[in-house]
Amino acid sequence: MTQIDADAPVLVTGASGYVASWIVKDLLEQGRTVRATVRDPDKASGLEHLHELSAAHPGKLTLHAADLLADGSFTVGMEGCQLVIHTASPFLVGKVKDPQEQLIRPALEGTRNVLASVDATPSVRRVVLTSSVAAIYGDNVEMRGRGPFTDQDWNTTSSETHQQYSYSKTVAERAAWEIAGKQDRWDLVTIHPGLVLGPSLTTASKSGSMTTMRHFVDFSLTFGAPGLTLGVVDVRDVAQAHVRAGDTPEATGRYIVNADTLSLLQIGRILRSAFGPRPSFPLFQAPKKVIELAAPAAGLTREFVKRNIGRPLAFDSSRTVRELGVAFRPARDSVVEHYQQMIDDGLAKGRARG
Ligand code: NAP
Repeated sequence: MTQIDADAPVLVTGASGYVASWIVKDLLEQGRTVRATVRDPDKASGLEHLHELSAAHPGKLTLHAADLLADGSFTVGMEGCQLVIHTASPFLVGKVKDPQEQLIRPALEGTRNVLASVDATPSVRRVVLTSSVAAIYGDNVEMRGRGPFTDQDWNTTSSETHQQYSYSKTVAERAAWEIAGKQDRWDLVTIHPGLVLGPSLTTASKSGSMTTMRHFVDFSLTFGAPGLTLGVVDVRDVAQAHVRAGDTPEATGRYIVNADTLSLLQIGRILRSAFGPRPSFPLFQAPKKVIELAAPAAGLTREFVKRNIGRPLAFDSSRTVRELGVAFRPARDSVVEHYQQMIDDGLAKGRARG
């Protein structure tokens, strides 16, 4: 049981990001004081939404410079915090030139670095770490002959050469549990979202969520969508799960945060029903053989195709509903609102809101 004092400041790492921005907003709306870490608090663009939140909640939000790879850089902002929400980690999909430097090292060393600051900060009682369903399973094929993935499952198949983002999340989370287990002043709770969709407070995020949805405007799915099924969850529900995981004294362990699973074709159908027919919305699933041939050009390996395409996927999020009280929005709504925002931001054609 860990009781967090609602008057103590909360540290949120990677606060400029897609997911973290909603966490910061939720905390501020609860009247909490938030220390937000970003790489460069003085940068001219990309932080506008945090400055707006700060103006709307005077004296409640401060920005602090911290880099995952700079030892000790999280310590100053953490002073006096009882709750630390660690979200910062690169989420890149598609072709990644140097997975070790771009994904694995920042995720793993960054987590060790943040937790070293936690160990050095006597006020901290709980750490909520943004992990992912990517640390729960490696490839869809692992569902064969079993039920939905649960919070007891671990990804044991991703590596430095296969599913490197999933590997980065798995090794970072494993390191976090190992470090947490060496002491008993603070406890660790981990949050495991599927693909996060829904409105963004920032247009600057380079999250894989944005990259994935861009496929529905760039015509890459026009001649058929790969038969890939993904977990999907709304960004606002992910933020709420983080905040509740921090504030629920009994919260413990790993929480899968996922509303539903959808194939790329199902996402296309949702978009067609909401926005009308467009050539960039896929009408059919491409044959697996075709995907296998096209894979290298799309930054996918044949192994990825073999182990994921045409294979079902399911998760059990019931503990999150029961223990954290999160009522998931329908995945359809998150898809539609995400695309509507792309229209509003001029990233997709269509009728803007308002
Ligand atoms: P995002 O918008 O790209 O946010 C990632 C954040 O990490 C950014 O604020 C970025 O800061 C920060 N970051 C990256 N490298 C850093 C470094 N070296 N030092 C300090 N900060 C660094 O992506 P997101 O989708 O919100 O992802 C947030 C978290 O959710 C990640 O842990 C991700 O693995 C996890 N997650 C995301 C999804 C999803 O579908 N989006 C699903 C499951 C889990 P800068 O602004 O300085 O670049």
